[in-house]
Amino acid sequence: MTAITRSVDIESRGRIAVLTVDNPPVNALSQHVRQGLRDGVRRAAADRDAAAIVIVCAGRTFIAGADITEFGKPMAEPGLHEVLDLIEGAPKPVVAAIHGTALGGGLEVALACHYRVGVKTARFGLPEVKLGLLPGAGGTQRLPRVVGVEKALQMIVGGDPIGASEALGHGLIDEIVEGDLAAGAATFAEKIVAERRPLKKIRDLDDKLAAVRGKPEVFASFRKSVARQTRGFRAPERCIQCVEAAVSLPFGQGLARERELFLEVLASPESKAQRYFFFAEREAAKIPDVPAETPAKEIRKAAVIGAGTMGGGIAMNFASAGIPVTVVEVAREALDRGLAVVRRNYEATASKGRLAPQDVETRLGLIRGTTDFGALADADLVVEAVFEEMPVKKQVFAKIDSIAKAGAVLATNTSTLDVDEIAAATARPESVIGMHFFSPANVMRLVEVVRGAKTAKAAIATAMSASRRLAKVPVLVGVCDGFVGNRMLYQRGREAEKLVLEGALPHQVDQVLYDFGFPMGPFAMGDLAGLDVGWRIRKGRGTKSAVADRLCEMGRFGQKTGAGYYKYGAARAATPDPEVERIILEVSSQLGIRRRAISDEEILARLLYPMVNEGAKILDEKIAIRASDIDVIWVYGYGWPTYRGGPMFWADQIGLAAIRDRLLEWQRREGEVWRPAALLERLAAEGKGFTQA
Ligand code: NAD
Repeated sequence: MTAITRSVDIESRGRIAVLTVDNPPVNALSQHVRQGLRDGVRRAAADRDAAAIVIVCAGRTFIAGADITEFGKPMAEPGLHEVLDLIEGAPKPVVAAIHGTALGGGLEVALACHYRVGVKTARFGLPEVKLGLLPGAGGTQRLPRVVGVEKALQMIVGGDPIGASEALGHGLIDEIVEGDLAAGAATFAEKIVAERRPLKKIRDLDDKLAAVRGKPEVFASFRKSVARQTRGFRAPERCIQCVEAAVSLPFGQGLARERELFLEVLASPESKAQRYFFFAEREAAKIPDVPAETPAKEIRKAAVIGAGTMGGGIAMNFASAGIPVTVVEVAREALDRGLAVVRRNYEATASKGRLAPQDVETRLGLIRGTTDFGALADADLVVEAVFEEMPVKKQVFAKIDSIAKAGAVLATNTSTLDVDEIAAATARPESVIGMHFFSPANVMRLVEVVRGAKTAKAAIATAMSASRRLAKVPVLVGVCDGFVGNRMLYQRGREAEKLVLEGALPHQVDQVLYDFGFPMGPFAMGDLAGLDVGWRIRKGRGTKSAVADRLCEMGRFGQKTGAGYYKYGAARAATPDPEVERIILEVSSQLGIRRRAISDEEILARLLYPMVNEGAKILDEKIAIRASDIDVIWVYGYGWPTYRGGPMFWADQIGLAAIRDRLLEWQRREGEVWRPAALLERLAAEGKGFTQA
């Protein structure tokens, strides 16, 4: 074995030169890997004893992409294009031998080889779109030549990897290797040489492109099929344009087009936000005083108290992760109703082909319903999801405390109540924590993990790791009214109501947020969640909302009653209702407000700046660990568009001084609610942002 660079070695296996890349942890395409591949291929090409070349990787995976530490820097020589040209142009067969994941630049390396083999468990993908980018080293030009345009579009625009048997079926790999990969690949290479098979250069293939040439409808229907998921993102459309170029242009020109569009997305604000968010999500897993090695309890059994809207969804999360879960209810009917909803949800997923029928039964088999609290005795994690009333919560926690085994983590799903007060109802407040799931709990990925004053580090580590096991994204927050997400949402809701009284209409406000990139605006969201929910909370707190209260008094609770802020037709399509407009005008006039035309720009600023300001207060109070955690909460919990990074990142792009000035202007006009938070003032004065603070 001879070292070419510090991460690439060469050795001979008979007539086959084997290049091994060893750049832990994921064999990223760092400069020394690129150089090693280039020099290694050159050396093997010049070696008269080598009949073919195999590229294989050490460790757990084939090359899994670019070296993210090189992001944002000019690429050191040699560039990936140069290396790929050299591989594809080699005078003897080059075979990629793939295990783990061949992702991004890794798959592009494999596509430049003449043949590809992989182990059964190997996966293949071009995930660049997830960072707002596109495969920039020929991936968009070579992949459609191998797997065809439709499959290539799916892989490049969707970004999800495919498995080895699918890859074999689509011609992406030539063979699945059993046993030792390097040996199997060398045997395959020997066969290629013995059979004198041609050097298959993907750039020269054309039959799969020819099949769709002159058929623009293929692209039109693909665009339609992804329109909803990709709305507002820049990269997916550019990926499609690259594949169009592969079909309509010669290879060299197609590559040039790919390069041009790659540079466009690389410099785009959307990709900047998405790359920021990628790191934000990983950062959220880090808790300064709860190091990664803090022992987390393994969850072998779970219990959920309450089989209502949230309890059922939470129980599904455990079952879907293969964890047996006991659902405890007070009343048999509530239990039966809740479990029936769970069954219907699983069956609906199965009927859409997203879950095998036998998995429905396996999952349901992991959920046991009971009215006997004694059944939670062996649970490692108990999640309470009963009515949102403090006396009920306290009573339930006292009961859990008397039954749960020592060391079990006791979580509450409360949205508004004080976790410390709930914890005080037990003799083990160190085991009590908030796990605030979002509705629908089986779908939404955010969990706000709420740390009480006495919560033990082990309980935090357990709640975080358990959430991840449920395929959720946990973010640690502190105790305050509404925690992070709802506390900021409240600010937005308050302004939305004021805006309609001052002159806007619900559909105008909603449209502004929809155009910004949210799936819906506050009024459509209210109608979806049910206006009666807020009405009940307001009655409890003795507060009012002039318009919403009127609608509720008329029985307009939103979608479920066919009318709320909007009217709902058969397909639940929302249409603005003149009756609602009449009520709004009436309430405005009763309050003595002179209505005026309000610009979309003002609506956006009035809705989002107070959220940013509240986010700053949340950071000041140390309720969130870092600004990027707030962004993770808003993207995963409330549909903030990923390509805008989250409210705090978005604020940084606008500039905190501009936001502060606007808040001050409103403060002069309308008073204290607009006063800029101390942190916002300070950062604005220092010319800094939240996310680079
Ligand atoms: P829900 O009314 O749909 O369900 C509550 C269930 O708890 C009912 O089935 C009820 O029978 C049961 N229950 C009541 N007292 C009980 C007791 N002593 N023992 C066992 N079961 C009991 O309510 P939900 O919407 O599922 O909310 C549950 C919790 O989740 C609340 O704390 C709520 O604030 C929180 N939450 C709700 C949402 C949401 O969007 N619905 C979102 C996040 C958090």
